[in-house]
Amino acid sequence: MTQPFLPGQMMDYPLTIDRILEHANQLYSSKRIITKQADGSFHQYTYADLYKRVKRLGNVLHRLGVRPGDRVATFSWNNYQHLELYYGIPGAGAVCHTLNIRLSADQLIYIINHAEDKLIFVDASLVPMLEAIADKIKEVKNFIILNAPTGMKTKLPYVLNYEELLMGTSEEFEWLSTDESMAMGLCYTSGTTGHPKGVLYSHRSMFLHTYGINLANCFGFVSSDVVMPVVPQFHAQAWGLPYACAMVGADIVMPAMHLAAAPLADTIEKMHVSIAAGVPTLWTGLYQELKANPRDLSKLRTLIVGGSAMPRSLIEAFEKELNVKVVHAWGMTEMSPVGTVSNLQDKHLALSNEEKWDIKAMQGYPVSGVEIRIVDEEGLILPWDGKSVGELQVRGPWVVKRYFKQDPDTVADNFTKDGWFKTGDVASVSSDGYMKITDRTKDLIKSGGEWISSVELENSLVAHPKVREAAVIAVPDEKWGERPLAIVIHASPDHPADRVELMDHLAKKFAKIWLPGKFVFVTEIPKTSVGKIDKKVLRQRYKEGTLV
Ligand code: AMP
Repeated sequence: MTQPFLPGQMMDYPLTIDRILEHANQLYSSKRIITKQADGSFHQYTYADLYKRVKRLGNVLHRLGVRPGDRVATFSWNNYQHLELYYGIPGAGAVCHTLNIRLSADQLIYIINHAEDKLIFVDASLVPMLEAIADKIKEVKNFIILNAPTGMKTKLPYVLNYEELLMGTSEEFEWLSTDESMAMGLCYTSGTTGHPKGVLYSHRSMFLHTYGINLANCFGFVSSDVVMPVVPQFHAQAWGLPYACAMVGADIVMPAMHLAAAPLADTIEKMHVSIAAGVPTLWTGLYQELKANPRDLSKLRTLIVGGSAMPRSLIEAFEKELNVKVVHAWGMTEMSPVGTVSNLQDKHLALSNEEKWDIKAMQGYPVSGVEIRIVDEEGLILPWDGKSVGELQVRGPWVVKRYFKQDPDTVADNFTKDGWFKTGDVASVSSDGYMKITDRTKDLIKSGGEWISSVELENSLVAHPKVREAAVIAVPDEKWGERPLAIVIHASPDHPADRVELMDHLAKKFAKIWLPGKFVFVTEIPKTSVGKIDKKVLRQRYKEGTLV
């Protein structure tokens, strides 16, 4: 018989998201939330204002019939109203379902119906996208408009005005998020194959994720920070950053629809942003903008980059030329989303800058709370030796256990028998725990029996001064099975790169078999709804013969 354990004697204190807001209201009530409005001016209020409006929102939701467990959707830019929904919906016991505003009509219809969204909060500027599908999402009871201009007309049925609803209620509201295991957020993956899949976060998972990313060896926000999440609020809860800011009292700057490089640079300068976060393509544009039109970046201490691999050359450019530190992180919607981060440690201090950038270009070590391992095709665990490459698997308190409404027969596709989530990424891990992504399983190129990493080729191509962006995909080849094809945007049309010089550049680093047989020069590379290179579209274009 096993001896019964001695239970600890600490309080059952639920880790619910409303605790974060209560704490921010008590301690950081005067810290700011700044939103760039449609007309370019800035709206500014405090955490105390946020708190009061979230309480009103709780009453509004209850009055509209929202009950614990109901899914309530948002369809908006990053703005203060969206932040209110981040707290108000979970605070009312419901699930904040952030809809991706860049999805196609068909994907939106599928997701809204699959989630059974009861209400949709929609920014006035995005209403036409929902008008076009309103007759296919009949279960939605009300559309509530944020930022509605006076006299706004819409074809949407059952429309309500957000501000009017808030004005008509009281600031007294008792949180209905009573249990940390309650669902609080829902986000669908970008769905590169098949239908998008829903990930249902709990209060507990999001709370622990917030602690995790606020560790000093992860993002480590402090109250003097001014944080700008450029990553959309619909992309994995803006990487959890809005909750992390409230936990420590950092100011938040929301860029709304002003996402082009020049307005972003203006906002960083004007609002003294100290930390900005987003996908690498954003920072490519920002770097070029800053080189062409320098701004005062003295307050910008860190760029947090994730979502796809940050090229080493861009890390070097920001750190060396612009004196802005880059923190490269890896994660997934399925991981709330942060999994690993590539900060330097004290043992690296004596290294040369070149060596430091090599480390920073890796996806980094797991944040405390997340465990990682790599396995081969038979499921055998591979060593952390920096050489062995296998599928990356993860587990931890903020990692998905199963997808929302997942068919039980398909669970084994995504999860191992011993409880690990199969990420679909291919990686190696160094002996001291720094993980390096080689590719997505489906993007690897198999040529003559050898695996070629599209990510490594892309990173090397964008390091060439004449290349602005690059993508590498596998194309069928009679002799080799597959060969890499490089798709390249010139840095400047006046000094175009040519195939020979790019081949010479790659040949310095890679074996001959890795060198792309063919280059296609384009003016635009398609991106997914969350700003990553869309290889599915590139492969399709190649198949149709339109990639020339
Ligand atoms: P999403 O759920 O849309 O954020 O996509 C997650 C996927 O993005 C991961 O499985 C990776 O393939 C990719 N990804 C995220 N961060 C990185 C990174 N830092 N480097 C390379 N790939 C990344």
